[in-house]
Formats: sequence, C-alpha cells, structure tokens
Amino acid sequence: MKITKDNVFYSFCGNNEPALTVDAPATVEFETMDCFGNQLRDPDDVMEALDWDRVNPATGPVYVNGAEPGDTLKVTINKITLNEKGTVCCLNDEGTLGGRIEGSHIRVTPVSDGMVHYEASNGMKTDIPIRPMIGVIGVAPADGQDINTGTPGHHGGNMDNTMVGEGATLYFPVAVPGALFGFGDLHAVMGDGEIGVSGLEIPADVEVTIDVIKGGAPEYPVLENKDEISVIVSKETVDEAAQRATELMQELIAARTDLDMPDIVMLMSLVGNLQFCQIVDPEKTVRFVFPKRYIPGLTF
Ligand code: CA
Ligand code: ZN
Repeated sequence: MKITKDNVFYSFCGNNEPALTVDAPATVEFETMDCFGNQLRDPDDVMEALDWDRVNPATGPVYVNGAEPGDTLKVTINKITLNEKGTVCCLNDEGTLGGRIEGSHIRVTPVSDGMVHYEASNGMKTDIPIRPMIGVIGVAPADGQDINTGTPGHHGGNMDNTMVGEGATLYFPVAVPGALFGFGDLHAVMGDGEIGVSGLEIPADVEVTIDVIKGGAPEYPVLENKDEISVIVSKETVDEAAQRATELMQELIAARTDLDMPDIVMLMSLVGNLQFCQIVDPEKTVRFVFPKRYIPGLTF
C-alpha cells in the first residue's frame, strides 16, 4: 500500500478526510514532501517567494480500523529512502540566533553515498553523515482540536526528534476513531535543538508498519528502539517539558517493574538522559531517554 504526496494535510484534526483506510497491522509506504512543500529545491529559489500555506505538509491521514480513543497506535519506521538533495535555511528573527541574521538564506545541498555534501559560501566543503529522521509525525488530537503541523503536542506533531528514524517504534495516544495518522518533514540530518529552525529538509519515501494496541494510551508519545526507551514531551518552555518528561519516565518504569521509588530515581539519575529535541517551534520538545539494558525486560 502506498500514499502519494498528493494526499497531504496541514493540521492534525479529527475532521480530516482519510487518504487511506487500513486493517491493523498494515505496512504502508508514504511519499513525503519536505517542510517547504518542495518549494525551495533550486539554489535560485528564495524564501520570500514561499507560499506559507503550503509549509509543513504531512502525508495522510491513514484511518486505522479498530483504533478507538484510549488505544495506543504503534508505528514502526522500517525504511527511509531520501531524495538526492535537501535544503537548509536560516532567516531573520527565527530560531535561537535569528536576531543576528539579516534576510533569509538557503543552501540546496546534495545527498549521496550516505553523506550530506555541504558547501559554505566561502567555498569550504564539509561532508556530514546522514541521520535520516521524521520531523512531523502524529495522530489527530481529541475532538474539536485542530493543531497545525508546525506545532508539537500530546498527539506528536512537529517534535523534530532526531531519534525518529529507521528502527524506531513510536506509541501514540489515539484520541479519535481511526487515529488519523500521518507524517512528513523528513530531515537528512539535524542537530539536537534545531537551533536555526531547519534540518536538511528533504523529500523522502518512508515505509512504516502500523498496529493498534487496545488501551494503554500514553499521555505523550513514547519511542522505543533496540537499546532505549524514551518519552517525548512538548510544552511552552523547555523547563516544563523536562519536568514532565522526567515524571512520565518515572511512571513508565514504576508501572512495569516492582522497583521502589528511590531506586527508580537513583537509576534514572545514573543512566537516564534528558535531551533537547527542538527549542524553536511554538512548543519546545524534550525527551527523557533510558537505556533498557539496566532494567531487564523494560519495554513499552
Ligand atoms: Ca520540523
Ligand atoms: Zn523540517
């Protein structure tokens, strides 16, 4: 099954028309546009010409039969195939250093052989290994809410988390019948924080497997890979996001083990890592990452 980039939405909402309906489990290929709606693909393109109504397209949504509010949508990212070039930008008043930039700037940058081939305006060339990841991914929020694809939250959305790559499994709280899952905004590489408001923004084809777990909806998305489990929290400030992510990881461990509170806190303090996802979107996103090997059997 495949969904093309002709099926995109710009806000996560229970009223969106499904692009595809599937029975779980289902493996689906998504064709995604970059966060600029593929409008900045030529070195001569300029941000001033951007149609901002076409920014942050997410492909989908997929209606998953049997997914009901309170359930958990389980999504495994099987394979990401990147386009051969991507675009990074910076502009005045956007991002952590936006006050120090005049105008807007883009670099259309080739990607080949597992490397991003960056060239600066002074001619300096530097190669960066790719780390493909999905910036925007989520489900519709609870009824009535309409959250644009540039904003993260309980439903996922624009979390810009570098861990959302091949081999990761995400668990989302289903809030409307069918979940209405979708994603877009792929990056060939991005640093934690996304300080300049973009990664190397790039169209991509992505294969995922979607499944439903009855009940157990997490408050915020949970991400698990071979070695780690993490909770991904978005709040108005980094401080609030860090506090809640830490609390939710403690609750996750407490619900799955018979460790007492002091041991959980001490283990989290010894080997748990609080990390920035992004600090430049309307809500800031933080993850608490716990290496699973220190608590045998720990899993979502
Ligand atoms: Ca993004
Ligand atoms: Zn992006």
